[in-house]
Order: sequence, then structure tokens, then C-alpha cells
Amino acid sequence: MHDDRTLVEARLKRVLEERIRPAVYPESVPLSVSVWTAPGEPVPVAEGLAAPRSPIAVGDAWGAPWGTSWFTVTGTVPERWAGRTVEALIDLGFDANMPGFQCEGLVYRPDGSPVKGLNPQNQWVRIAAPAVGGEPVLLHVEAAANPVILDYHPFLPTELGDKETAGDKPQYRLERMDLAVFDETVWQLVLDLEVLGELMAELPADGARRWELLRAIERALDSIDLQDVNGTAAAARSCLTEVLAAPAAPSAHRIGAIGHAHIDSAWLWPLRETVRKVARTAANMTALLEDEPDFLYTMSQAQQFAWIKEHRPEVYARVKKAVADGRFVPAGGMWVESDTNMPSSEAMARQFVHGKRFFLDEFGIDNEEAWLPDTFGFTGGLPQIIRNAGSKWLLTQKISWSQVNKFPHHTFLWEGIDGTRIFTHFPPVDTYNCSMKGSEIAHAARNFKDKGVARHSLAPTGWGDGGGGTTREMVGKAARLRDLEGSAAVRWERPAEFFAKAEAEYRNPPVWVGELYLELHRATLTSQARTKQGNRRSENLLREAELWCATAALRTGSAYPYERLDRIWKTVLLHQFHDILPGSSIAWVHREAEATYAGLAAELEELIDAAQRALAGDPEGGRELVFNGAPHGRSAVPAGGAAVAVPGPGDCAVTARDGGGFVLDNGLLRVVVDGDGLVVSAVDAASGREAVAPGARANLLQLHPDFPNMWDAWDVDQFYRNTVTDLVGADEVVVHADGPAEVAVRVARSFGSSAVTQTLTLRAGSGRLDIDTEVDWHEAEKFLKVAFPLDVHTDRYAAETQFGHQFRPTHTNTSWEAAKFEACNHRFVHLAEPGWGVALVTPSTYGHDVTRAVRADDGGTTTTVRFSLLRAPRFPDPRTDQGRHRFRHALVPGAEIGDAVREGYAVGLPERRVTGSAESVRPLVELDQDALVVSAVKLADDGSGDLVVRVYESAGGRARGRLATSFALASAVPCDLLERPWEGTRGEVVADGDGVRLALRPFELVTLRLTPAG
Ligand SMILES: [Zn+2]
Repeated sequence: MHDDRTLVEARLKRVLEERIRPAVYPESVPLSVSVWTAPGEPVPVAEGLAAPRSPIAVGDAWGAPWGTSWFTVTGTVPERWAGRTVEALIDLGFDANMPGFQCEGLVYRPDGSPVKGLNPQNQWVRIAAPAVGGEPVLLHVEAAANPVILDYHPFLPTELGDKETAGDKPQYRLERMDLAVFDETVWQLVLDLEVLGELMAELPADGARRWELLRAIERALDSIDLQDVNGTAAAARSCLTEVLAAPAAPSAHRIGAIGHAHIDSAWLWPLRETVRKVARTAANMTALLEDEPDFLYTMSQAQQFAWIKEHRPEVYARVKKAVADGRFVPAGGMWVESDTNMPSSEAMARQFVHGKRFFLDEFGIDNEEAWLPDTFGFTGGLPQIIRNAGSKWLLTQKISWSQVNKFPHHTFLWEGIDGTRIFTHFPPVDTYNCSMKGSEIAHAARNFKDKGVARHSLAPTGWGDGGGGTTREMVGKAARLRDLEGSAAVRWERPAEFFAKAEAEYRNPPVWVGELYLELHRATLTSQARTKQGNRRSENLLREAELWCATAALRTGSAYPYERLDRIWKTVLLHQFHDILPGSSIAWVHREAEATYAGLAAELEELIDAAQRALAGDPEGGRELVFNGAPHGRSAVPAGGAAVAVPGPGDCAVTARDGGGFVLDNGLLRVVVDGDGLVVSAVDAASGREAVAPGARANLLQLHPDFPNMWDAWDVDQFYRNTVTDLVGADEVVVHADGPAEVAVRVARSFGSSAVTQTLTLRAGSGRLDIDTEVDWHEAEKFLKVAFPLDVHTDRYAAETQFGHQFRPTHTNTSWEAAKFEACNHRFVHLAEPGWGVALVTPSTYGHDVTRAVRADDGGTTTTVRFSLLRAPRFPDPRTDQGRHRFRHALVPGAEIGDAVREGYAVGLPERRVTGSAESVRPLVELDQDALVVSAVKLADDGSGDLVVRVYESAGGRARGRLATSFALASAVPCDLLERPWEGTRGEVVADGDGVRLALRPFELVTLRLTPAG
């Protein structure tokens, strides 16, 4: 037979496009439209419905950027349509090629009840089936003119990302406002032909099935009268019945599809718009669940449920009902889909506490999966947190975005730094916006790396970010793919059902140990420095607020601010969303985030101050008490307690150095700063050892050009290192402090349009060189780093993460190591030879890199640690990071890992001084072993008055110790993160009179609920 394959395929394409799809709506009449444009921010629904309308017509422009227009559409069903299915078609000016990321609408009935969302691929509203002739139609549409930020030519700087700069030029033109007859038979024919045509394209050309499909499609096309598609569609469909009925092969890949819309909690739109995006999509999805009995939908992020509950109660009522029916499935058990690199130990834990508790309280659902499809890498600390939250599975898709290395598994056990293993799945469909296209389904089956031992994968299906979620077309296609020869078999499946099946079938899954590093978006550890510092500051202040409020509650009977702390935590958790904390949102989001963090800081300072004043007693008492919120004792003040300030002996000295510069010495550390203000020597007196590499200069600011190939705020590409400017010229190098208690040198430099002032300080009794850097930053597309070349020979270094640290190599032997050229630290980076090490600590920055070099003259190894301070990408925020910043870093020569942990906490948790009458404040709990670190002291969330204390082993070894309480103890119960009694602790926890004996494994964390006696 002659090969006419391409001819028939081209015929299918044209006939579908030009004749069959248009025949889905064979007749239409225009609706009348009027509009009210809200003057500023969105208004309540009742106000929008009641506002006076002005006429507007199809073809007219509407919608200043970020504005809201309330349209009213009216019409009458023509008599001749009686008995037919009638829909309204409302095209606000959508670009159907770009679902989401543009204008959107929510349709209301005259009584204010929501109907469904309007999205680029979802423009229909069912009016009646069957219709009654002469019936009046009246609908309202709340339409948001969200401007397109990420265009066909992406990553161009734009002023549209903030309402303050976006201007008022209308962004859209009304495209269609019609009443139309919906021909369901033609609609079904379209889906038949799409499914079969798309499957056919994926099948081997030498296989029989491909040709069977081709001939069946040809017969269907032959049977269509192109001048009467509606009259002949049924006949065409009957030509396809047989090929659609052929069952899938027994070995076919099984796809658990779940309806989904990945809605970024803020990104190319402000937080307030996400509230509406979620409401529109949830309205769509609850409507689709009613229409489609097999369909299931999942929504993650408790915050998004909470938003609908607060702002769109009518939509929430529908969601609640669908959740109760088991068809709208809350997923993930986190407050938001957060970043996981940067949140602190406690914050990462609270993401699960607040997320899971919301789902438990609202729906009685205890999620067992973590759902983070789009997060930019996963720390080695996360598995233990997931387990301690009472969960056991993880889903993400993002690692498929890695630039260099292909991850070897789709289903595997992921092992964290403490040895916890979490059953993990990466959907091989490689998207969290599956649309049931044949190419996606075939890719999932082909791509799945665990074939032969596993058969199931997951496919989150639907348009996110304002695309409206799953469409009825996707549901129709999934129904045809349920059991179809040549295709993977698709079933709607809840995430928990998928995980249970996948876990049961995979007897011996492979294991991946350590962090899941995303080889992309590495600059998200640095972009938008003020947002990142706001997060850090809030985390530290929350630790102090909980500690001192709990202490005050137990000691003085002060009321514990449960509700305020709950609200503040949720606000901090929201801002850890994977486009806010990473710095990849529009200017509006970051402008608001900075203001929000400032408000939280003021409120938390007030809580801390009130609690400390209550503990300090009469302010006329005349005693200056030093409060220590860090987990280690310092200045003779115990951790978590307060004592009267005792000025220490000051023996710091600064002297001029021959040839320029200064020598700073406090007996513990001797630092030499040269005439350029750079550190040429740092000798730890205890060992006599030099930390700075011979001939090198530390605290060196380095400037690189930084213009990645795409994703400006997200990415730094490896080639940035090819060009570097060392900022060595100093405008001044002067002594800044010369007391016995501290000595300091101040260095001022200028470069480009920017200026920097650094203060290098040595304090009495401290082995730490503190470096305070103030930058007035006015560069574009540059990367600023501060370098510490150290005389340390090592092939790995430690970087702090949640509840411990993870090691990374200092070499680039393989592509896996080479790809980690920018990584995350929390409070410290530590590198060591046996017996001696150096720590670099910071409360200010997250991004860093570590490189090694061998010196030509003495053959020694220089290991250089560089912290990343600032970038200046111009998309999506054209003025990212412009202006003033302050960073703090410290060099700690001679530091063991325990010193790194201690100094890391100390720099972020300064001592506080309060005047009162008390002689001291005894800590509620005290630990007698340095490696055991308290990460939280708080009152139990249930309001019982119990004290909750979280402790972890911080050094990576075994630690035995005793947690002594300074109150009579009725009971001590190990708990999970949600403060529920828990059997999962692996180490020993034994209540022991007024304390608890602990024996913890490396990096193990334990949460204790301590009930005071009486
Ligand atoms: Zn996302």
C-alpha cells in the first residue's frame, strides 16, 4: 500500500482546526455589555455588583494594569434555541496560548453567588440545558486586568510589575461576549480526534496500531460533510468507536492523574491577586467536580484555603462540601509551598505544623505527603522534618529542571542528614501543568526511569497561576485514555492513593542520600536581600518572643500571646513562599514584603520587651539585666536566662602596622589589616595557627558581571566567574574603636556608582572577627561577593541547614559537583583539617561558594569561601536591590563544628539589656551538653499551659545529656512537631525527676511536651 501518512495527518489538522472545532458552537448571538471600573484596589463583591454601569462593546479597550472592571452581560435566549444546550462565551481579550499570567474573570449570578472562573482556556458559562426560548440572561463578571509580565519575549525589564509604576494604559480589548448553542456531539468528536491523533503521532511508524488509528481517522474524516459538521458528527464518531475501545497493554505505564492548579502564592502578581486567583480556580474546580463524577482535584497550601475562607466564603462553602465528599483533596500539609533552602529549622517545622493543623481543624484530614512540585531544591534537613510532622511521602517535579545532570530515579527513597528516609516521587511527565496531551502521556511513560520494577507515576493536571485549573476537555481526554491500546493508562487518583500504590509495588527502591540540589535558580539565594533579611530577622525575633513570653507566662503568670504569635508565624511562613523569599517576584511583592517585615519586627520587639520587663521586675530597681536568647551561655548569662551585667575585663588593643594598616589583638585572636583595609593575617592564639592563606587577602570584595541567559532574578550562570574585579582601593582605613572592650577598623571604598563601608571589630573575650558591611548599591547586572581565602586543606566543608549541617565537596571532579557552584548556608560554613578548623558565620546572607586552589610557591591548599552579598537583576523587578544594605559576617579561626554552631546563633541573637529589680532570671530549661541545642521554647499550641521544648543534636554525632527544668515537672512526653504524643523518637528520652535524660543520634531532633506539676 502506498504511504499516505503525512497526507492524512495534515488533513486531520486542517479539518479539525477550520471546520470541526468551530462547529462546537454553530450559532451565536451577541450579549449586551456594560461596565464599572473600580477606582483603585479590588472592592467587596456586593459593592462591585451594585456599582453603576456604563456601556462598553466588544472591541473596546479595558483594564488599566492591576485594575478591576465589573462587567454586566445581558441577553435573551432566542426562541429557536429551545431545547438546545446554551452557553455564554466570554473572551475578555485572552491569549489562549498562555493560560494564566494575564487577565481573568469570576462570574457571578445576580444574587452574588459565584458561578465559575473565566480563563484563557476556559471561556464558557453554561446557561441552560435544555434551554427555554425567550429566557433572559444576566451575569456579572469581576475581571482583573493583570498585565502580562512574562511575555513571548521573556525577561525584558518592565515597569508593569508595580501598580506605582505601571501607568494606566488599557491592557486588553473585549474579544467576544456571546450567547451560543453548544453542540456536545461535535465537542466529543473533537476530543476523540485529538486523543487518537495525538496518540498516533507518538506510536512507531512501523507498528500496526499507528496505521489502524490512521485509517480509522481517515474514515471519520470521510464521513463528515464539511458543510454540515453538526449533522454528520455522530456518524464520524461511530467510525472511531472500535479503535477507542481497544484496551491498553497489560504492561502499559499507569498514570495517576490528579486535577491541579499550581498557583504561586505571589509572583508576577501581588499577594492580594492570589486571593482572587485561588477563588476563581476553586470556583471552576468545584463546578467541574459537580459536572464530572470521576474527576478528582487537589489543592495545596493551607494559606490558600484560609484566603478563600476569609475573602470568598461562598466559594469556600463549595470547597468544604467537595472536600467532605472526598473529591477536592487538600494536599501537602504545609502552610505554603515554601522554599526549603533558606527557612530556618523552626520555620521549616512550622510550615508543616500550621499547614497540617489547618487541614486537621477544617477538614479532619491528616496529610501524609509533602507537596512541593515547584520548589528550588531540597535540603538534607527536610526528610526528618517531614517525618516528625507525621508525614512520609514527598512529591516534587522541579529537579527535572536541572541544567546539567539528569536525576537517575523517578521513585526512590530520599535520605536526609540524620538518616531519615522519605518515599519520594518525581512525576516523569516533567510538568505540574499536564493537559492530557498525547505527547505528555507518552513522555511520562518513556521517561519513567523505574520501568521493570515500578509501573505507577503521578500527573498533576491543569493550568495553574490563573489558568483556571483542569478543563472539561482534559477530563474528557483522560476518560478516553483510561484503557487505550498504545497509551499509558490514566486514572484520576488522590495523591495518597497514588503513593500507597507506588510504595506497595516498589519493593526495594533506590536511595539518594543528602540534599536534592537544583542545578538552576542558584541566584535565588541572593536576589532581593532586604526580603531575605526580613525573613531572618523575623525567625530570630520569633524565637526570642516565644522563649521570653513562655518564661514570663510560667514565672509571672503573664498572658501568653497565642493568637498574635500564630498570626505572625503564618505571615512569616507565607513570605517563605517559593517566589517571595527567593526574590523572584515583581517589585510590588517585595516592596510590600519589606513593609510587612518591618511591622512584624516592631510587634515582636514589643512582645519581647513586655515579657522581659515582666521578668526583670520593678524598672526602678536599678539593676541592668542581660537577657541571653541564644541556646548557649555567654557573658556568664545562661542560655534562655538573664543575669546582672558584669563588665568583662577588656584587653583589646589596636596598633599601627608598618607599611600601613593596623593590628587588632585581644589575646585570643590577632588580626592584621593592611593599608587597603584587607585582612592579611588572622592568627588563633590557642593554636598559633594562621587562618588566611599565605599571600592572600581576606574580606576581599569581588564584583562580577552577572547577566544570565534567562530567568534574571533566579539564575546566575557559571560563566559569571570568568570576569572579576577585586575591590581593593580604599578611600580610607581608620581606627573606629580603641577601647579595651573592643577595637575596630573602618574601611571605606567606592566603585561604579556604589559605595561600601566596612567595620572590622574584635571584642574582648571573643575569638570572632566581626565584619559589618554597609553598601549603597547602584549597579545593574552585577554580583557582589566577599572572599575569605583560607589556609585549610580539605575536600569537603559543612554548611548549616535545618537541624544540622550538610557536607559539600570543595572540588569539581564530576559534573554533579561542578554544578553546585553556588549553594546555601544558614548561619555558618565550616571547614577543617583534623584538629583545627575555621568557621564563617552570618545572620545576613544565604548564598556562598567554596573553591580550592594549590599554591605555586609552597604547594599548600587554599580553600576560598565567598559569601554572596548582592545582585542587581532587572527582571522581574527592574530595580532589584538598589539602595542601602547592611550585612554582618564573622571569621572564627580555630573553630570546631560546635563553635560554628554557637557563634552562628550568637551573631543573630544579640544580648538584650533591661533595667529591673530581679537579680537574675533562671532559664526554664537548661542542657548540660553543648552538642544538644534548644531550637524552640514555647507554650503548647493547644493552650494547655504545657511547655514545649525542641532539642536537636547539632554536631553530627551521638550526644547524651540532661535537660533540667527549673520548675516541678509532672510529665515529659516526646511529641511530633504538632505536639502530639509520638513514638517515633529513635534516641532515648527518659523523664527523670525535674528533668529529662536525652541520648540523641546524629542530628536527631526531639520535641518534648513538659507538663508543670500543680
Ligand atoms: Zn511555583
